[in-house]
Amino acid sequence: MVNESEIARLARDIRKASRIVALSGAGMSVESGIASFRGPGGLWEKYDPEEYGHINTLRYEPAKAWIMLSDMQREILKAKPNKGHYALAELERMGKLRAIITQNVDGLHHVAGNRDVIEFHGHLQSVSCMDCGHRVPSADIDLDKLPPRCSKCSGPVKPDAVFFGEAIPSDALMRSHREASTCDLMLVIGTSAMVYPAASMPDIAHDAGARVVEINPSETPLTGRISAYIVKGPAGDVLERVVQQLKSLPA
Ligand code: NAD
Ligand code: ZN
Repeated sequence: MVNESEIARLARDIRKASRIVALSGAGMSVESGIASFRGPGGLWEKYDPEEYGHINTLRYEPAKAWIMLSDMQREILKAKPNKGHYALAELERMGKLRAIITQNVDGLHHVAGNRDVIEFHGHLQSVSCMDCGHRVPSADIDLDKLPPRCSKCSGPVKPDAVFFGEAIPSDALMRSHREASTCDLMLVIGTSAMVYPAASMPDIAHDAGARVVEINPSETPLTGRISAYIVKGPAGDVLERVVQQLKSLPA
């Protein structure tokens, strides 16, 4: 159980800040039933995501890449936002949260109601043909017939997500850089901060003078170096309680 004084401290920091940006990772969606990469029960226990999720595996061994992708697709298709996603949507409605930079590909921040979401690694909501570009919703794919093929030209298909070995789309990179370098508080939620360049956003914020606070049950390479403190607990529980506290603070 997270200490009440930690919750109150974060609520006060949010009250004081005027430009807040969140950086979210796979831990944000663990309470929605989606496995992370590195946590307990994470995909890492079954596969090496940097191998199965590498663009060359998708190109040259698509059946292998789709083993992990279909596992993620199945989880994502049935997942719903959790208390943490809804708390961030509430923070945006309160005018406190400027943007979310998310490494997640599950689309749950949008479903929860956040409007300004930078999907740093794209999303798994749709797939595109690698030969003719034809795009279809992921829900239309038959996950029992792998690897899926394009319905127009039978070419190989790729989720509209960024794979290991691929560059981050420049608009997402530029916007994230701008938000990170102009915020005064960055909330780093549920990320192991090991996948670059997303993991450099807290450094950019810190170097530009922002306070960086982590919400994560476990410490990360940022802890004690970049982050001012870490609220150790699950994102859903922590964020819901922080927003409740915030509402009870005097204006
Ligand atoms: P990661 O798997 O490397 O790390 C997950 C982090 O979440 C860990 O630090 C862990 O301690 C923390 N965590 C576990 N449960 C938590 C909870 N309830 N609340 C808060 N934190 C919790 O994840 P990453 O740093 O995001 O990097 C992995 C890459 O994997 C990203 O690029 C992302 O695109 C991709 N990924 C996305 C999803 C998704 O879309 N939901 C799922 C798995 C992986
Ligand atoms: Zn095609």
